This record gives sequence, C-alpha cells and structure tokens, in this order.
Amino acid sequence: MKTIGLIGGMSWESSAVYYDIINKTVKEKLGGHHSCDCLMYSVDFAVIEELQHKGDWDQLTQIMVKAAQRLERGGAELIVICTNTMHKMAPEVEKSVSVPLLHLVDAVAAKIKETGLEKVALLGTRFTMEQDFYKGRLKDRHGIEVIVPDLAGIEMVHRIIYQELVHGIIKEESRVNFLAVIERLMARGAQGIILGCTEIPLLVKQEDCTVPVFDTTTIHAIAAVVAALD
Ligand code: GLU
Repeated sequence: MKTIGLIGGMSWESSAVYYDIINKTVKEKLGGHHSCDCLMYSVDFAVIEELQHKGDWDQLTQIMVKAAQRLERGGAELIVICTNTMHKMAPEVEKSVSVPLLHLVDAVAAKIKETGLEKVALLGTRFTMEQDFYKGRLKDRHGIEVIVPDLAGIEMVHRIIYQELVHGIIKEESRVNFLAVIERLMARGAQGIILGCTEIPLLVKQEDCTVPVFDTTTIHAIAAVVAALD
C-alpha cells in the first residue's frame, strides 16, 4: 500500500469524512486489521478562507505547494487535496512534487462517464462554480457538459457552505433551499448533480434527489485508496 498524503483542513469537517471513508475502504478491500497508511497536513481554515475571499490565489498557491512538499518529505507517495475549490492550484501543486497528485475532477469525471450522463450540474463554492478550472477540465478533458445555478443560486449555495457547512451546521431549511436549486437545474436539463464541495454531502444525499448525485468526497476518497493499492 502506498502512503497517501492528504492536504486537509478545508474544512476539517470534510477531512474527517475523507479519513473515515479511506480507512473503511482499505478495511473493506484488505480485511483483517488493515487500515490506511497515510499522512494528513491539516491547515488553519481561517487563513485559507480569508485569502480566498480576498482573491489572493498566489498566497494560497504557496500554502498548498508547501503542504504538498511537507507531505512528500514525510514519505507520502501520492497527494490528495481534500477540497474541490483548492484544485484551482492543482497544476502548481503537481509541478512542485515528484509524487503523483490524484486530481479530484478526474476521479469524478470517471464516475460520471460510468453512468453515461452527458450534461450535469455543478454545486460548490462560488469559486468552483464561476471559475473555469473545474468546469473547463470536465469539458475539455472529459467531454462533460456542465451547468451552474443562476446568480441567486450561486450566492445561496456559497453562503450556506461558508456560514453553515464548514462549521458542521446542518439545517433542514438549507437542505430545502439546496433542493430547490437542484430542481431548477434539472428543469434546465441537468441529468445529474455534482456535489462539488466536500461539505455538501453532509447536507444533501442521494435519497433527497431524483437524479444521480456525485458525492465528490466519497468518490475522491475511494479513488485515493484504489490508487494507493494499485
Ligand atoms: N471544502 C470545500 C470544497 O470542496 C470548500 C472549502 C474550501 O474552500 O476549500 O470546495
């Protein structure tokens, strides 16, 4: 088993889910007393969140690069960035280490392709929904068409992520609001929904929706185990 290096803390609420899924998946696959061989470098999310909202992506890139290099020095043989948004810096992180980076978007795209869906909706932070690093990779590398909510939907989803979900606050009212956004996306032709923020699966589950949902936390965590055992 390769040692997985996890860049976590964005937020720790979802990093805890990664850790849980990774260990359970290793146990499922190897049995007995097996668990995951891994390292986690967990950042202070207050620093990250402030820089994101200031738009200081250069500083954020340096933080991600340093985290990946620390993990590599500690013996990680595979890097996993435990957040969708911070894949904005994936190209720089990839270049800064000599071990592979398991890109979340590629893992999610592989899952979408298995279902044969061609047009999906993306929910995530404002950065993930509005910028091109995520939608562009899905379209250009994987041929998957992606739509996002209207501006009011983007603002609502972003606010719930940063004011509730990253603090572990789960409100029924927010679930109802998310489901209304999902309904509108389905009316615009979305055949599936990417839960493209690692905290959204804490709020919205497959059973809440009538189209397939792609839980990026679970998909990425399981892909990390598959890569580690390869
Ligand atoms: N965990 C979230 C994501 O998957 C948002 C927090 C962050 O900005 O990293 O995008």
